Amino acid sequence: MDLLGGTGGPVRVAGRELAREELLRRASGVAARIGGADAVAVHATASLETVVAVVGGILAGVPVVPLPPDSGPDERAHILGDSGARLLLAARGAETFEGEPPLVPVDDLPPGDGAAAEPAPGATALVLYTSGTTGAPKGVLISRSAIAAGLDALADAWAWTPDDVLVHGLPLFHVHGLVLGVLGALRVGSPLVHTGRPRPEAYAAAARDDGGTLFFGVPTVWSRTAADPAAAGALRGARLLVSGSAPLPVPVFERLEARTGHRPVERYGMTETLITVSARADGERHPGYVGTPLPGVETRLAAEDGAPVPSDGETPGELHVRAPLLFEGYLNRPEATAASFTADGWFRTGDIAVIAPDGRHRIVGRASTDLIKSGGYRIGAGEIENALLAHPAVREAAVVGTPHADLGEQVTAYVVADGVDERRLIEFVAGRLSAHKRPRTVHLVDGLPRNAMGKVVKTRLGELAP
Ligand code: ATP
Ligand code: MG
Repeated sequence: MDLLGGTGGPVRVAGRELAREELLRRASGVAARIGGADAVAVHATASLETVVAVVGGILAGVPVVPLPPDSGPDERAHILGDSGARLLLAARGAETFEGEPPLVPVDDLPPGDGAAAEPAPGATALVLYTSGTTGAPKGVLISRSAIAAGLDALADAWAWTPDDVLVHGLPLFHVHGLVLGVLGALRVGSPLVHTGRPRPEAYAAAARDDGGTLFFGVPTVWSRTAADPAAAGALRGARLLVSGSAPLPVPVFERLEARTGHRPVERYGMTETLITVSARADGERHPGYVGTPLPGVETRLAAEDGAPVPSDGETPGELHVRAPLLFEGYLNRPEATAASFTADGWFRTGDIAVIAPDGRHRIVGRASTDLIKSGGYRIGAGEIENALLAHPAVREAAVVGTPHADLGEQVTAYVVADGVDERRLIEFVAGRLSAHKRPRTVHLVDGLPRNAMGKVVKTRLGELAP
């Protein structure tokens, strides 16, 4: 089999387990049912059925479109309509809405013999919809060869082998949980323990009872782990903790190290580029940095007018990527696809980064929401969020630019904190930030708007306090 490794450990999801051979037999039953379809949707709950369905699509060579399980009828209608999926694979009894394609219950299909079709390496394996952090989710076409290239580069960077036991509880409709977290384990051959949800207590139990060695999480998971002494203690014996999908604030990195003894490996990527930049298991791990480009990946920085920006460790620019693991384009959006590449063929990530002379990358944030232009300065939101999070009472922080008559934009912070007022917080960060970076307004709020990946949706912050 080209994409999935031939042998490997069992896959467990939310307490139910299948041996590798049984998983392949059941998946080939799915493949027999869907073979020849243009695309199939999978109701991607955190379940074994999701894994069986996705692997079935891969065996059949049919593009798989994972549907976020908690998406409402509108988001589902958007994804189903846009992707053109004619069948919906799900566990028996899953809820469907009117007008949706017929449900094929994965549990009711007879197992097959494990045989696989042999699609071309460039064939589409997955249509993954972006998180929708900045707009309507776009369908990203991902080929089999891109997945294979990305996973092999990661396995190398993280020294990931069949001896590892992978543990995570991330959603199964996204690059992180599905491509790295499921297809990665199947390609490398390591057993997978998916905890159903990414909860620190569940990670701790998997470390204690299942021999978990390699742990994947998004920053909110690591921040909660650092705040839970029992869970943090249980992870001391792990081999590697990996953080990705959103910025890991420096104070969270430091707390996690203090409580677990691990300096986490950070990695950066996006649905369009899979994983492109990562710290290495055998290399240094610097808080605030996401490591260096994976083998085969080239990066560069560009100014708004496209002029080159030096890798001097100081000057921010838009990050461009060129690599064999890039996506094939946005489904049904030729203009958006064309606009995301430069004339000389580099993918424009829309993220602002700084590259140090030694090749380390620091992600400043998204050009659209994380770069504040105030009084002639360009200010990265992350640095201010880090300063706020360094206060012991602050649990979450998000910083944006809001309109200001003289400055163009002013620095505005939304903070979730216990027992500290706005004025004290402004004083606290004043000691850590130069004057133009200090927030002019701090809104204390009960919680930040987050999407299913746990990312802060900055475009919705204005709804909390105008
Ligand atoms: P949409 O494109 O629909 O707005 P999205 O960009 O959140 O949603 P994803 O492809 O899931 O969808 O996320 C990729 C983005 O997440 C990157 O462009 C970057 O902004 C952010 N990101 C991922 N990893 C990291 C990281 N380690 N540090 C900082 N930011 C990260
Ligand atoms: Mg994006």
